[in-house]
Amino acid sequence: MPLRSALFSQRSLLLTLLVLLGCGFLSTTLISYYASLGSIRDNIVNTELPLTSDTVYSEIQKDLIRPITVSAMLAQNTFLRDWVLAGEQDPQQITRYLSEVARQQGAYTAFFVSENSGIYYQAKGILKHIDLTSERDRWYARVRKMQEPYEINVDLDMANQDRLTVFINYKVYDYTEHFIGAAGVGLTVDAVVKLIDTYQLRYQRSVYFVDPRGRIVLTGASGGPDGARAGTRLQDVPALAGLLARMPTPSTGSREYQRDGESHFLNVRFIPELDLYLFVEKPAGDSLDELRQSLYLNLLICAIISAVVLAMISGMIRRHQDGIQELATLDSLTRLHNRRAFDLLAAQALLEAERAPEPLTALLIDLDHFKELNDTHGHLAGDEVLRQFARLLESSLRQADIVCRWGGEEFIVLLKDTDAARGLSIAEKIRQRTEERQFSFEGKSISLTTSIGLSAFGPGDTLQPLIARADQALYRAKQGGRNRVCREPVSHSHA
Ligand code: GH3
Ligand code: MG
Ligand code: MG
Repeated sequence: MPLRSALFSQRSLLLTLLVLLGCGFLSTTLISYYASLGSIRDNIVNTELPLTSDTVYSEIQKDLIRPITVSAMLAQNTFLRDWVLAGEQDPQQITRYLSEVARQQGAYTAFFVSENSGIYYQAKGILKHIDLTSERDRWYARVRKMQEPYEINVDLDMANQDRLTVFINYKVYDYTEHFIGAAGVGLTVDAVVKLIDTYQLRYQRSVYFVDPRGRIVLTGASGGPDGARAGTRLQDVPALAGLLARMPTPSTGSREYQRDGESHFLNVRFIPELDLYLFVEKPAGDSLDELRQSLYLNLLICAIISAVVLAMISGMIRRHQDGIQELATLDSLTRLHNRRAFDLLAAQALLEAERAPEPLTALLIDLDHFKELNDTHGHLAGDEVLRQFARLLESSLRQADIVCRWGGEEFIVLLKDTDAARGLSIAEKIRQRTEERQFSFEGKSISLTTSIGLSAFGPGDTLQPLIARADQALYRAKQGGRNRVCREPVSHSHA
């Protein structure tokens, strides 16, 4: 195969392998990445967040539902209603009752507001008269009008150093279903906030409550989404635009939305007892970062494996090709160029000599009485002598000269940039060194002589006549008694 097409096919083979390995590795890596991504998402959305929601809900039931029950009991208490219907005679009676309820139930306050007198009673005595025009008492007007039996309200408690308090405001009716006031208990929000903070720390998630109109009602100490404080509406938190596009008003379910370019998972659950939505959310970041890192590591490993495999294969191909090339151009016995290589190299050398122009000399070398040597010492000795002679020949020449085993015990040499006179002295040196050299085989020393025919390259000359003239000169050397150098007859020479 010509060298260029071999190179081309090697490159296309490596390219095909690279594409195959790359596609294979890339597809398995990406498939497993997306599968893991899907299962992590599934796990967060369908298991982790709902579980947190369940846990928070059951804790809330324990911690917040009780005040509702207490408030309901308060509102339906016959003593309270009888005392009101009897004209609110002795305030001490009612304040003692309220302080007992607060103490026994562990609430911060218990209260009753009378519709008839407008008096706000609480555990420590009469607080004040309700003023429906004041901002702080507006809650009473709301409770009075509402359809539901109670509401949960986060508000400032005047009787409790104005701390944020969750009030359960229960409507109180007389025995004929007339509205006679509002009663309930209050818990300072500190306790609830602490509760939420505990959940957030314990589960590394963000927990907050939102009312049906989309107002954040309760958050941990560090605030709700994006640090929003209680009282903020979701639509006023710019970071939640992505969520609100999907969920304009709070509704139960699991969602994934983008916040500041990052995926967030959110679980919303309605808590009917509080009439609030419980939001539990978590940024996708942490769990996905780990996955992304393992993706990059995988890709790196795949790239390294591909590079190593390709380098190994390319090395193997190169060694194989070198071997084939050697086989095709070198003589296996002497490791000199064979005739095939010689033809290419000689054509090139002649072209260069012609173009330069430079002198060029050809030597045709034949070992003397080699048949005899074979017969005397054996064929293996003959082979060994051929090998040793090849080394002698190489060491007598320059790197640039072309040396070839022409066949049998004949060699041909092209001396570049060398005229006939210099060629003769080189040939003489070879002849002399051969004669003086002791060749050896299995401890035996063997003598050898050589006959050399020389021809000089001239303008318009070609390889075949050049060799033919060297052959004639060689014939004359043999005829002349061997172990000598003859140049072509001068009349034939172009030099
Ligand atoms: P002359 O001086 O006339 O050249 O005599 P010669 O014996 O060298 O010439 P001839 O051409 O009659 O014989 C060449 C011998 O070289 C015959 C052949 O067996 C031997 N020969 C050729 N190739 C090899 C080889 O690869 N190994 C060995 N051991 N002998 C070889
Ligand atoms: Mg011969
Ligand atoms: Mg011979």
